[in-house]
Amino acid sequence: MKLPSRSKAYIIPEYSLTGDLLSFLTCNLQYRYQNKGTLPPSKPVQRWFGEFIHGVMEEAFIQWKHEKTPFPWDWKEDIRPIEDLIDLRLQARGLYPHDEDLFYSILNQPDTDLTIDDLNEHDHKKLASARAEKAINIWGKHLFPLIDSSELLIKGIRDMPGYDEHRSRSNYYGINGVVDVLTSMKINRTIEQSNLDNYDNMIIEILKKNRDFQKRITDCKEGEDYEIIIDYKGMKRPPVEVTNPKAENKWESHKQQILTYSWLRSQQEDSKPIFAGIIFYLNELVPSKEDLMLIKEEMNSGLIDDETLEKYENDFEMIQNWQEDDKAPELSDEFKLERSIRIINIDDDEINKSLEKFDSVVFEIEKSLINEIKGCKIQDAWKAEADERTCSACDFKTFCKNNNQTKEFKIP
Ligand code: SF4
Repeated sequence: MKLPSRSKAYIIPEYSLTGDLLSFLTCNLQYRYQNKGTLPPSKPVQRWFGEFIHGVMEEAFIQWKHEKTPFPWDWKEDIRPIEDLIDLRLQARGLYPHDEDLFYSILNQPDTDLTIDDLNEHDHKKLASARAEKAINIWGKHLFPLIDSSELLIKGIRDMPGYDEHRSRSNYYGINGVVDVLTSMKINRTIEQSNLDNYDNMIIEILKKNRDFQKRITDCKEGEDYEIIIDYKGMKRPPVEVTNPKAENKWESHKQQILTYSWLRSQQEDSKPIFAGIIFYLNELVPSKEDLMLIKEEMNSGLIDDETLEKYENDFEMIQNWQEDDKAPELSDEFKLERSIRIINIDDDEINKSLEKFDSVVFEIEKSLINEIKGCKIQDAWKAEADERTCSACDFKTFCKNNNQTKEFKIP
């Protein structure tokens, strides 16, 4: 009797917006080692802050929902315990902050006599704490009352780009992502309400001034609920254009991320029409030395438009005159607020373009993956190309063929 062989497992490859799309665009080869080879970065500081600030905002919202603690929140009493909790959660996953970013967690030191009352102004001013406080007291105050749900997992399925029966791994691929915050509101009613004197929401006010928002508001149906997708980024505002052709255009990638989220969300049964997207670049509330240096570089490379340079002439002048060893310049609140929020217009053409982009990235990943499965060497199957900053922080620079630093590396 001939026993039938078990049929091949049917697998639909899953791709995530942040874990795959954004990291593949940063550098194909680095993505291969880190994501497909599950080699975590040895110094994941950027990742630590991103996860820390997401965790802090999520936890702060949960506490606000239950206790309705009025703003501004006190750092020592209301915010520090949240920082401690998130820090410990991240430590359990092997993610640790730098000393200058966050005071070490008291909860993790059973032998210490220190209590939360021993924290001082210096600890308070550490970068991650200072940003967490500003993010909660500036944006949390206006954002939390608008939140409908947070950390929402969304998934969808698409045809595999360039499907080939003999080569492709599957005829479909899955996309997933986590929306940081989803707000739901009756746009017309909210705007009417915001015109009343006693309603003062900075996010609604900024939306009202946005030209695309003004155009779209006329199409909104009275009494119908609309959604706004919100994403926090633990980074500075990226420039609109990049001068280095090898560098990823983060400005575009972030827009594509929100547009793809809006398509994924629209596939869910309980979704309402998506009206706009908002990205918060939270580093802008308390820029680090590195952030200031990058803004300076952007000014000198002509990457900041004349209108913005004119509007914030004083702030840009302070940044231009500032030197790395000087005290950080006292930038105006308007400057910091405007740079920390970005409105994304959601429209069908833009959504289709971003989905096509996602398809093309998946096509490239699958192509490299299949080449590797078929026996091609890793460094030949995956393109190694990134900007200097990414390469200099990369763990694989010592053996990456495309990096000048490989040549400089000597074994003592
Ligand atoms: S050194 Fe640069 S090009 Fe090479 S893998 Fe790392 S980021 Fe990519």
